[in-house]
Amino acid sequence: MTDEFVDRSHILHRTFSERPSKIVGGDGISLILENGKKVIDACCGPSVSCLGHSQPEIFDAIASHLKNDIAYVYSGSPYTNTATEELANMLLADKPGGLSKAIFVNSGSEATDAALKLAVQYWHERGQPQRTHFISRKQSYHGNTIGALCVSGHASRRELYQDFLSSNVSFVDPCYAYRMKQEDESDEKFVQRLSLQFENEVLRVGPDRVAGFIAETVSGTTLGCLPAVPGYFKAIRDICDKYDILLILDEIICGMGKTGTMHAWEQEGIRGPDIQTIGKALGAGFVPLSGVLLHQKIFDALSVGSGGLAHGHTFQAHPLACAAALASQKIIKRDNLIERVSQMGQKLESLLYKEIGPRPLVGDIRGRSLFWAIEFVLDTKSKTAFSPEYNFCGKVVKNALSLGLNLLGNLGHTGEYQVDHVLVCPPYITTDAELQ
Ligand code: PLP
Repeated sequence: MTDEFVDRSHILHRTFSERPSKIVGGDGISLILENGKKVIDACCGPSVSCLGHSQPEIFDAIASHLKNDIAYVYSGSPYTNTATEELANMLLADKPGGLSKAIFVNSGSEATDAALKLAVQYWHERGQPQRTHFISRKQSYHGNTIGALCVSGHASRRELYQDFLSSNVSFVDPCYAYRMKQEDESDEKFVQRLSLQFENEVLRVGPDRVAGFIAETVSGTTLGCLPAVPGYFKAIRDICDKYDILLILDEIICGMGKTGTMHAWEQEGIRGPDIQTIGKALGAGFVPLSGVLLHQKIFDALSVGSGGLAHGHTFQAHPLACAAALASQKIIKRDNLIERVSQMGQKLESLLYKEIGPRPLVGDIRGRSLFWAIEFVLDTKSKTAFSPEYNFCGKVVKNALSLGLNLLGNLGHTGEYQVDHVLVCPPYITTDAELQ
């Protein structure tokens, strides 16, 4: 590392060899740099700032909450607070898919940890404490804490920590049609192949040992905005029902409206998950907040059992974060922004196909509504990937930035397939001109 690149800040930045640019403000969907330049935040950071960076109503709601309510209450019994109650009510009053209770935590990784622990507690309360095995998918990402990494099939993020990671987790193939669906294979046959693999894994482990199956409804950063082929989640849900296995859907990156419905699973023809994680767009990035949504049956089992949660954090259900998220969700509802996501999504889809593909190096363009990715390959016919060292997407992201566009590239080596992709998931308030 040359002296020129030594990072002298007292903040430990993620990459030591590059000095990050200082952001000093926001203007709509753009970030303002120290030198006054603006960059369009075309991925909402990592799919977070769905309302952009300047929302006076949310700033006011945060200020008003601090002035008139309470900044912090420990959510351990016997206290609750208005913002948390209202937010949960807003999300769950209609009991989507039977989901009826919420837990709010600070990060997506904490939400994954809580979801796993709740699943284990559920089986304990139901008199099946041996159900502690989880089945996940290869090249998946559910977070960076040790618990969440246990169920994340993200090769390079697991590598250093193998000794800490539970052996009570096994991995099946993801629904990655671009590379895994055979040329003459129909969607139906592909689904049959994957679901048979899942069922065989359940039988191998022993159905009475499996606590749950966890998957992203639309895969985000590892496989690049990858929706499953039609029928996949229906087949998975059926197998979970057949063996009484909890279906845990991770919608931390793809949920809260990004795919054109509040929950991405609404488009999968299933009744819903048993446990769902949410985050990122939940609070639109104004204050950190993530959450876990639970089906009534989980709550019922815990109620007849110990009557409480065997899990908690100091900053769980932070009132200020809930107030900010509540203000964000109210704007999304009032301004019909999820409908707008659908409409703008159609425009984005046709722009991506028209302006970017098909052409050399563009292997696949996939996604839903305002949640898209472009997968790049060295050769589109053979689908040969770039070498990881070449860091093709790093170059795309760098070039895009020089043109005033902030994109998110793939997160390193995630497993068997090298998936060089950049995400394009702009805020819900993006205008036609900005989209162009
Ligand atoms: N799950 C998914 C699908 C994610 O994309 C992420 C983050 O990118 C997480 C979990 C972890 O969330 P966090 O970074 O807030 O801990």
